[in-house]
Amino acid sequence: MRILLLGGTGEARELAHVLSGERGLEIVSSLAGRVADPVNPGGQVRVGGFGGVDGLRDWLAGNRIELVVDATHPFAATMTEHAARATADLGLPMLRLNRPGWTAGPGDRWLRVPDMNSAAAVSADTGSRILLTIGRQGVGAFAGYTKPWFLIRAIDPPESTLPPRHELLLARGPFTVAAEAELLDRHRIEVLVTKDSGGDATAAKLVAARDKGIPVVIVDRPSAPAGLVEVSSVTAVHTWVTEYAAAKGNRPAEA
Ligand code: NAP
Repeated sequence: MRILLLGGTGEARELAHVLSGERGLEIVSSLAGRVADPVNPGGQVRVGGFGGVDGLRDWLAGNRIELVVDATHPFAATMTEHAARATADLGLPMLRLNRPGWTAGPGDRWLRVPDMNSAAAVSADTGSRILLTIGRQGVGAFAGYTKPWFLIRAIDPPESTLPPRHELLLARGPFTVAAEAELLDRHRIEVLVTKDSGGDATAAKLVAARDKGIPVVIVDRPSAPAGLVEVSSVTAVHTWVTEYAAAKGNRPAEA
């Protein structure tokens, strides 16, 4: 069974590894090609956009894909929507891995906002030294804020206009709590801005901010299309896919 695995996340790399080890499954991982030096999942990989819903539909049909696993980032809403539409058009099954979002605990000072523009307005109202850990997309929403100083952390440099008072820090996680705490201290950070990405890989900054009583502006996830089949862990995807493949393999051939 040929499976398209929409990736760009640590979970997708793990899935490429575990699913490729299953007999009878052939995995093609897909990366958007945004990051200059991506961590490669191993196995078959294709890179770059498909050309919208129509392009993806053609690609799925042309490559004899029987199942799509969407393991993209929770904020990659366009890719998820395109995949949902293309698979529905072709009558193909699609499974989405939706890792749980973060929840505030005792001591957290979180300010939840619906989008990046609200994050810019709320963070500028909350402090004058702001750490942005939102990736390079979305930084443009902060460009018009001339008073605060921003430390902008991203894997690759943002392409959008940046706020006038900033320093760019190019770095790729995961980071430890101790390293995050040191970063907050060194730059005298007063507010942290993050997306509600969820997962362990980038959660250390939240612990460090809590320990220091620093407020966190946290951008809510974009909504996903209704009716998707979703699970929340790599293990659950593995189980779902192997059971699906076994059930399909045991089904009598159609007349
Ligand atoms: P997006 O806004 O949902 O997608 C925009 C377009 O990029 C899609 O329409 C598609 O182009 C292409 N694309 C996205 N993911 C793709 C994939 N896995 N394979 C092939 N094409 C893909 O996506 P995004 O938020 O820019 O994220 C891009 C990639 O980075 C995703 O793979 C995601 O998992 C990863 N990532 C995103 C974030 C984040 O915060 N957004 C964080 C970490 C990793 P076409 O329409 O031409 O097909």
